[in-house]
Amino acid sequence: MARARFAPSPTGPIHIGNMRTALFNHLFVESGSNNTMILRIEDTDLQRSSAEYERLIYEELNWLGIEWDEGPDKGGDYKPYRQSERLDIYNKYYNRLIEEGKAYYCFCTPGELERDKNQTACEASSPRYSGRCRRLTGAQAEEYLREGKPATIRFKIDPGRTVVFEDVIKGRIEINSDTLGGDMVIRKSDGMPTYNFSATIDDHLMGITHVIRGEDHLSNTPKQILLYDAFGWVPPAFAHAPLILGPDRTKLSKRHGNTYIGQYRQEGYLPEAMLNYLALLSWAPEGERELLSKEEIIKQFRLERVTRANPVFDIDKLNWINAHYIKEAETARITELAMPYLIKEGLISPQEAEEKREWLELMTAIVQDSLVKVSDITDRVRIFFNDRFEPESQEALQTLKAQGTAEMLKRLKSAIEGARQVDQEFCSGIFKALQKETGIKGKHLYMPIRVAVTGQCHGPELVKIFSLLGKERLIDRIDHVLNNYV
Ligand code: GLU
Repeated sequence: MARARFAPSPTGPIHIGNMRTALFNHLFVESGSNNTMILRIEDTDLQRSSAEYERLIYEELNWLGIEWDEGPDKGGDYKPYRQSERLDIYNKYYNRLIEEGKAYYCFCTPGELERDKNQTACEASSPRYSGRCRRLTGAQAEEYLREGKPATIRFKIDPGRTVVFEDVIKGRIEINSDTLGGDMVIRKSDGMPTYNFSATIDDHLMGITHVIRGEDHLSNTPKQILLYDAFGWVPPAFAHAPLILGPDRTKLSKRHGNTYIGQYRQEGYLPEAMLNYLALLSWAPEGERELLSKEEIIKQFRLERVTRANPVFDIDKLNWINAHYIKEAETARITELAMPYLIKEGLISPQEAEEKREWLELMTAIVQDSLVKVSDITDRVRIFFNDRFEPESQEALQTLKAQGTAEMLKRLKSAIEGARQVDQEFCSGIFKALQKETGIKGKHLYMPIRVAVTGQCHGPELVKIFSLLGKERLIDRIDHVLNNYV
């Protein structure tokens, strides 16, 4: 009966790394029985959070097929699930710490804090708060509060303590409290909680049993554990997954390419490919097979099997996986996904997308196996749209000019005119006949035909092109080429 949570901050378009965190939570929850997944929106940075970024979180989670049982949109026994709506709850806990002498108001100005920082830098110790306001009496603090002096609240972190915890992925972690920066701000002067405070309160109140997140939070965990201690609460299990790196082995960022998961969706990566790929970042299936459905991954997933080494984001591998899933997908689905790209490229109108669906599906089937991502389709199918093309290159033009081509194309055209259908049977028959009648063979036969009906030297099988274009358009195209280029 574990309870895990994904707790993104809506301060930017949701990052691939966060999505992998969401996925690991999801896989963990689904791999057991009666587990619960909570989505908590950590929007306490009012300046940087936005409703639009929150919307993208839902959109991308839905796209990837990551479900949650409780959340801002779903409700649940522990609502509200948006931190900006939980400020009253946090108040209660600041007060408790203050009353128990475990936290205090701090009136230090930014200038004073800066001077302190420079001072500790000179002393070559790790930067830490001087503790100045720890020494204020209760009466002094109250006086300042009455005067309306801006105040933060700090939680006392005593030096010389060792915080120890057993990370499910990283193993035993020991951190000396001297390295934690001194007494930690838990409420900012704008009244909002800091991340470490609100995350701890919420994880406790929401009954979270497993905190699964990126290792960039590893340094926060001791601070959170000290808060659990101060409240007399039992901390959850922690599992910190290694950060995803770019090819240069620095933290994956925009410099390396797209980091917003939605950009991959927009380019035509399939969710099952992305899910499969993200699962393989830091986790390895037991067998050799890497192409696994979500159900197969869930069956095998164990947090303990998440690796400690940092994975490198490998676009070639993602592309390979995506191409595989595109090949496997129903053509109707790929056709549907392809529509926006074809419309945007001006190859079809929105109306044609509906009315010519059957034909568009036949077209998609021809190129489906060659797509790495769905958006690639526009380049592959361009040949099926413009009947007034120019041969693509000198080579294509030369092919048409070869001796005997005109005669051969004329024969082909009249055979098409006389045919009932330009299907497989027709094609093998006519290609054989042309060979016999003209003496032109192999490449010298197929290439000019290909250029005559598509303008290109390479492309899908001729028989597929023939049956997709149909009699009239083939005749029209051959005429066009005969009149202009042969
Ligand atoms: N809001 C934090 C983040 O997005 C959550 C970290 C956590 O899971 O505790 O990084």
